[in-house]
Amino acid sequence: MSNSFHRQLVFTIKDRCRVCFTCVRECPVKAIKIINGQAEVINDRCIGCGNCVRVCSQGAKIPLCSIDAVEVLLQSKSRIAACIAPSFPAEFEEIPDYKVLVGMIRKLGFDFVTEVSFGADIVAQEYEKMIKESRYEGDISSDCPAIVYFIRHYHPDMVNYLAPIVSPMVAMTRVMKKKHGEDLKVVFIGPCFAKKAETTEIDEVLTFMELREMFNSRNIRHENTDPSGFDPPHSGKGAIFPISRGLYYTANNQESIPEERVIIAEGRVNYKEAIKEFEEGYIRKKHLMLLCCDGCIMGPGTSPGGKRFSRSNAVGEYVAGKLQNIDRKAWEKDVAEYSKLDLSQSFTTEDRRLAPPGNEEVLNALQSIGKFSPQDHLNCGACGYDTCVDHASAIVNGLAETEMCLPYAIEKLHDSINNLNVSNEKLARARAALKQSEKLAHMGQLSAGIAHELNNPLGVITMYSNILMDEAPEGDAVRDDLKLIVEQAERCKKIVSGLLNFARKNQVNLSETDVVKFVQHSLNSIVKPDNISCSCESKIADPLAKLDIDQMMQVLTNLEKNAIEAMPRGGTLEVGVEGDADEVTFIVSDTGTGIEKENMDKLFTPFYTTKEMGKGTGLGLALIYGIVKMHKGKIHVDSNTDPLHGQTGTTFRITVPRGR
Ligand code: ADP
Ligand code: MG
Repeated sequence: MSNSFHRQLVFTIKDRCRVCFTCVRECPVKAIKIINGQAEVINDRCIGCGNCVRVCSQGAKIPLCSIDAVEVLLQSKSRIAACIAPSFPAEFEEIPDYKVLVGMIRKLGFDFVTEVSFGADIVAQEYEKMIKESRYEGDISSDCPAIVYFIRHYHPDMVNYLAPIVSPMVAMTRVMKKKHGEDLKVVFIGPCFAKKAETTEIDEVLTFMELREMFNSRNIRHENTDPSGFDPPHSGKGAIFPISRGLYYTANNQESIPEERVIIAEGRVNYKEAIKEFEEGYIRKKHLMLLCCDGCIMGPGTSPGGKRFSRSNAVGEYVAGKLQNIDRKAWEKDVAEYSKLDLSQSFTTEDRRLAPPGNEEVLNALQSIGKFSPQDHLNCGACGYDTCVDHASAIVNGLAETEMCLPYAIEKLHDSINNLNVSNEKLARARAALKQSEKLAHMGQLSAGIAHELNNPLGVITMYSNILMDEAPEGDAVRDDLKLIVEQAERCKKIVSGLLNFARKNQVNLSETDVVKFVQHSLNSIVKPDNISCSCESKIADPLAKLDIDQMMQVLTNLEKNAIEAMPRGGTLEVGVEGDADEVTFIVSDTGTGIEKENMDKLFTPFYTTKEMGKGTGLGLALIYGIVKMHKGKIHVDSNTDPLHGQTGTTFRITVPRGR
């Protein structure tokens, strides 16, 4: 069977694919698979229409190249004929005389150069006969190989409607072989690369673009080529085929067949609709003239950027000139002779339709692209499929990936950005905390050293000043001075012991405590001014935790004192404790002045105080820090100084492990 082979026509250069899915959108049969974000043509499904090659701006789809094979033929001893498609005047507009183009083709080494349009002349007669038959039930023209593949693969039930007539290309090959012998090699030159897979009857197929490449590589130019006529048989009206309304109109007695018999559909959407309507019985007894592309003059094997009407005009002018000079007698004789050739063909089916996926599978695939309800179906087409359901079905069939859904990808991107922001914030906080604890650790070392060195001389000062004071007689002025020395030395000792606490390295002495009672007790052990209302509320299921009671009491009372001192005009002091199975958190909250943001870093630094001389030592929080670290706990401070942002005040949260 001449039509049963399927050559790979389009190749993918993966590195060039930029994931725009334009080829998926433009492919009429969805023969493009996306794997790891890159498009790949599935040869089995491809019908060779060339749409993907035409629309890929990155040159990632490359058509099969036949130049090397033609070169081999040309170098062989065989006689070779070039049969050029009737759309050639559209491609080679810059060549003023068609005979020069013929000369250029001859220069490549072809023994004969003929026009395929003579094949169109004799094929048109076959169409005319078929349409006039009384049992005619309608047909689909079979001259476009992409349409033939489309029917055989995707509408196998319609295969019997494909016109059982060879294409003009095959007809011309048969004519040439009849004329010059079966050993003649034939190369078709045309606007279409689906022709490369139409039949094994023809030796090679070149596109117009490939022909240009061959001219260029041998520096064959129209300026340096002598004109030369086509070899016979010469064509007639068949030359108008690319701009006429198909083969049927190329026929002789078209007047005898009413125009409404013919339906013309071109382009990737129209031809499919026409076939569907024909299959469903809306169109009967019609001759369907179908083309996959936008017509032969704009075929995928023509140079890009051509102007449709200018090309059409070029063909029209060429045909007009040709028909003026036609040797009608010779033409009629040739037609009569070659019409005797067998111009029939038959078609096999090769069903490539995919079984429709199950509802549940499609539903799962839809969910994988974030489509949970009909409102989620945007049907935006960004993935290359018309609807979200089509995309989901393609996912099930292994042709598409979830990442192709643009709205879903954007949504996921937003999620990732948000997560990243959260992580960034966490990281920034952790870094700040680390910096702070490093700083405090250094200070701790320093202060521990100083405190240790000062402790002994201070002891000596205290002891000797006490002795001297005891020895000094009552009423002696020196006694008062000595008393001051003793007092100040005691103060120094306190400071030194505060510093030691901050830098404490000694172990904690843990004992099991009821933290709720403990918090209550801490509040009872401080002096509370009248203008401050205090409350104690604890939310904890299990109140038992192991703490160093003395030290932790210092923590709470220091925090409570600070809170009271921050509310000179009164306010509310709330203390409490919360916890889970592993930790307990003490909370001390006030409605005081709050702490300025820029001072937050300094809070735990020894001697940092905002209180006036004599009132604050700046050691309270440093001490708290030391104790909490020893309990392997952490301190969290929240504060607001701006009444515009709500109640001012500060909340300290001290979290320590339950110590079990
Ligand atoms: P001191 O109380 O001796 O000043 P602290 O180490 O206890 O030293 O506190 C250091 C500083 O932290 C205080 O001077 C004050 O500025 C600030 N501070 C601590 N607790 C609070 C609070 N609850 N409200 C406002 N400021 C506070
Ligand atoms: Mg204090």
